[in-house]
Amino acid sequence: MDGQPEQIAEAVTRLRSGGLVAFPTETVYGLGADAQSDGAVRRVFEVKGRPAHNPLIVHVSGEAMAKSVAAEWPEDARKLAERFWPGPLSIVVPKRMSVPEIVTGGGPNVAVRCPSHPLTLALLEAFGGPLVGPSANVSGFVSPTTAEHVREAFDERDVFVLDGGACTGGIESTVVSVVGGKARVLRSGLIDAAVIGEVLGRAVECADSGVVSSLPSGSTPAEAPGQLSSHYAPKAKAVMVEVREVERVVAGVTGECVLITHVAEKDEPFPQPLPSGKGLQRHVIRMPADARGYARRLYAALREADAMHPELIVIVMPPDETKNPVWRAVRDRLKRATTRE
Ligand code: AMP
Ligand code: MG
Repeated sequence: MDGQPEQIAEAVTRLRSGGLVAFPTETVYGLGADAQSDGAVRRVFEVKGRPAHNPLIVHVSGEAMAKSVAAEWPEDARKLAERFWPGPLSIVVPKRMSVPEIVTGGGPNVAVRCPSHPLTLALLEAFGGPLVGPSANVSGFVSPTTAEHVREAFDERDVFVLDGGACTGGIESTVVSVVGGKARVLRSGLIDAAVIGEVLGRAVECADSGVVSSLPSGSTPAEAPGQLSSHYAPKAKAVMVEVREVERVVAGVTGECVLITHVAEKDEPFPQPLPSGKGLQRHVIRMPADARGYARRLYAALREADAMHPELIVIVMPPDETKNPVWRAVRDRLKRATTRE
């Protein structure tokens, strides 16, 4: 990548002066700031419009840096980091006193993750300290999976963007807590609770049911802060429906309507083209039928749909494969993208 050392040097300069740098990861783009600077982290909340109780994941270059923010590094954390880092797993452990309260939403624990994108690992090494990194989007809206998405949301003067291409994973990291000797998945993602259980040698509770009302079932706000029921949402109204209901729902829309579907055209039970509303077009966004492909495309598809300013976005319900962690995670994100509260 041409100009990479200069880009990283510029990014480090910004971070050292309390500025913000968006960085690529294998999940989505993160909005980086010095995790040890109260003022820099405060800027992240301001720029994103993020509620203060929603804690930030701290990004590190490896276990040594993780230990600089963790008051304890339990055996479970060691095993998980060894197996999954760098990768899309955030591990919640007790925080050190030195970690500003604003990072953890006032809570006693901190989520740490070592992302696998080479540019961001180089940034973390060059900066030499941990960086907070919530998704680089305005709070509540669709997460960014390209540098362009980040540039659309923020002024260049506020946020310096490191362009590392399109994210390959497409949805946020799995969040697992190992606090108090218990292992619990607080947010589903590309890494499955069952695989985490294999690594730890015992069953892992999955507090994220995949269909969320306000909090993952069985968890308290203190354990799973920031798990809001409405999140990742496009600006247009969006609904998720079974494929057999598509025709009826679309027929009820009088304005523009965008359908997001993973079902092959030949297998769709409704007519082609879809019944149109008073001469207005129906747009169809075709999604990959495999879970990983769908996850990778998800946020870009929601943005494309939104850009058409439709009256309604209709999303065909993905398969109810509760055993497939990636479909679970996709359903979780879609559920929140179609909830308004
Ligand atoms: P985002 O940065 O938008 O991907 O959101 C990060 C999410 O990670 C939060 O909304 C929480 O669900 C979770 N998280 C971050 N820090 C903690 C923590 N200290 N304890 C529990 N969950 C956390
Ligand atoms: Mg986010």
